[in-house]
Amino acid sequence: MEERPASTLSALEYDPAPESAGLARLREGYGLFIGGAFVEAADGATFETINPATEEPLARVAQAGEADVAAAVAAARRAYDKVWRKTTGAQRSKYLFRIARLIQERSRELAVLESLDNGKPIRESRDIDVPLAAAHFFYYAGWADKLEHAGFGPDPRPLGVAGQIIPWNFPLLMAAWKLAPALAAGNTCVLKPAETTPLSALVLAEILQQAELPDGVVNVVTGDGSTGAALVASPVDKVAFTGSTEVGKVIQRRLAGRPTRLTLELGGKGANIVFDDAPLDEVVEGIVDGIFFNQGHVCCAGSRLLVQESVAEDVLHRLRRRVDQLRVGDPLDKNTDVGAINSAAQLEKIRELTAWGEREGATRYTSPCALPERGYWFAPTVFTDVAQTHRIAREEVFGPVLSVLTFRTPEEAVAKANNTTYGLACGVWSEKGSRTLWVAERLRAGVVWANTYNRFDPASPFGGVRESGFGREGGRHGLEAYLDV
Ligand code: ADP
Repeated sequence: MEERPASTLSALEYDPAPESAGLARLREGYGLFIGGAFVEAADGATFETINPATEEPLARVAQAGEADVAAAVAAARRAYDKVWRKTTGAQRSKYLFRIARLIQERSRELAVLESLDNGKPIRESRDIDVPLAAAHFFYYAGWADKLEHAGFGPDPRPLGVAGQIIPWNFPLLMAAWKLAPALAAGNTCVLKPAETTPLSALVLAEILQQAELPDGVVNVVTGDGSTGAALVASPVDKVAFTGSTEVGKVIQRRLAGRPTRLTLELGGKGANIVFDDAPLDEVVEGIVDGIFFNQGHVCCAGSRLLVQESVAEDVLHRLRRRVDQLRVGDPLDKNTDVGAINSAAQLEKIRELTAWGEREGATRYTSPCALPERGYWFAPTVFTDVAQTHRIAREEVFGPVLSVLTFRTPEEAVAKANNTTYGLACGVWSEKGSRTLWVAERLRAGVVWANTYNRFDPASPFGGVRESGFGREGGRHGLEAYLDV
């Protein structure tokens, strides 16, 4: 794409419209949630969580060690044996429904807290993360008393205690994806949030208290990878992990030879495939949603754009114009489209891979937007002239960086889309249903979106194949991961 001076940009000017940080009701310190109570770590260890948009500390959080993880697993085991396995499906439904309602009631607080801790725009935490988290609890509230009709036999049984490890890109939503089906199916849980985004899971723990969920049914242990490793090593019946493929492989090796069930939701390198008959203005919105939503910190991001050669120039021209209009900045501002990168480490990784993009010969276009001085920021970036061998075409950047490749025939599109070790999600844009189905059938990915991207619904199963993992979350399929079937 050819360069254009920033002075010709047509982006509208907006006055700042910040949401108040005070709504998050931040406290100085947060404890672990074990056996229904907030407690300090046994050795008193803590870590700091910061606001990635300002690098200012937000709070100190307990760092769970092996003894704390053991206490949480023991609390979950007791709660399973003494209480939860004896509750009826209808009682579990009632708790899940209450939790969903309380998330709705505290949605503004949760949205602001999530944007502060994660860096994502308030528009997304308010309109997507928090409502979808509530929707997951509502959805699984509906299943808890109907498990015998879920297609897993007349009397499906829970597994027992689930250890659940989640990443930092959708902290509250991932907690909901893990907890809601596990509880509906009758399991108890120990949840380990990511070290850069522990806060919303701890407010969710408060909500569980408010909902009067019996003590120990859900426990939350905060900490870094060592806390996660301790959870994997502990006597749980099930491990559910969402995170990097690298750590997923470590966990799989650790569990080899143990009867512990495992589901893994790992990385991706999604292809967003655009055919020449697609409505191009909608396509551009879909491309932007696919890669710039949540700063590209999305495992199923459409990070490879495959565009048919005959419309490539037109699509790229429109895309560049749209990218220039994305507003990057204060996550709490309601007009912000792209927020802060979640951590210094992630920013470094994005910088390294984009430097490789240039080094390997791709052409870089970066939005001329002004970036705040403090905090972790990366301007939306599009690479053209990308070859399939380039690192930016093969590796997950997990940032606002799009790699564009072209194709001529549907066969070539499918071959290029499948030329990855991952297999999480793809998008297909075309007016012809028959062509979309032909392509979708041949794509090796757990999810294929047609004429949309990054669309989530609690009733729809989500998960990957190959190095993107196995097991499904969401929908009826999501129950299977927590039932002895
Ligand atoms: P990312 O690279 O996106 O930060 P990770 O896979 O490192 O993703 O992290 C996802 C989650 O896994 C986090 O909660 C993290 O603390 C946890 N984690 C990291 N290392 C391990 C490990 N060896 N065992 C278990 N959990 C881990």
